Amino acid sequence: MAVGALCLMNSFRGVRSASRLQITWLCEHTRSHSITSGIPGVKERTLVAVKPDGVQRRLIGQIIKRFEQRGFRLVGLKMLQASEELLAQHYSSLHRKPFYPSLLRYMTSGPVVAMVWEGHNVVKSTRMLLGNTNPAEASPGTIRGDFSIHISRNIVHASDSTEVAQKEISLWFQRSELIDWECCDHGNIYHP
Ligand code: UDP
Ligand code: MG
Repeated sequence: MAVGALCLMNSFRGVRSASRLQITWLCEHTRSHSITSGIPGVKERTLVAVKPDGVQRRLIGQIIKRFEQRGFRLVGLKMLQASEELLAQHYSSLHRKPFYPSLLRYMTSGPVVAMVWEGHNVVKSTRMLLGNTNPAEASPGTIRGDFSIHISRNIVHASDSTEVAQKEISLWFQRSELIDWECCDHGNIYHP
């Protein structure tokens, strides 16, 4: 049985038989595990952004819901009007593409909601949740497959590798804007 589950069960029994030392060990041990994955030390993070069309179509909540119900942990969130300078760095690999000028116009056409999600294999899983870049190729059930019909208005961005994720997170967020937090059913209940 997972230590977290044992910890929780003990709490409901009143924990009268456990010593303070035992409880402290359980809490510290539990805290070192990823809540979303149950795997120790897994802290992978990715950048997700609801693009201007997603915001304007009131899809922010539906997009966040998919990440929450999958079990990932939100550690950063903000709405911003992205500058051309920020986007030029973000899309630095696409500068020479013919669609780059229209991509910049699209991405500056309104506010964006930027998020950092954390969990086991979050980069790869997030790309699966989004679906193909071209919504015409995206499977039903994916965000792009459910909400969009054209590649130039595909609702949402996500980092495509762990290396890119680190670069994008530091581009869009200050370190102080990202918050490590613990789940109430994983040990915090033992603290006075
Ligand atoms: N894009 C476009 N036309 C294209 C290819 C891409 O407008 O032919 C836009 C689209 O918004 C896409 C973004 O450029 O999401 C970045 O392209 P990339 O290939 O990195 O796709 P993504 O990583 O977003 O799936
Ligand atoms: Mg990309």
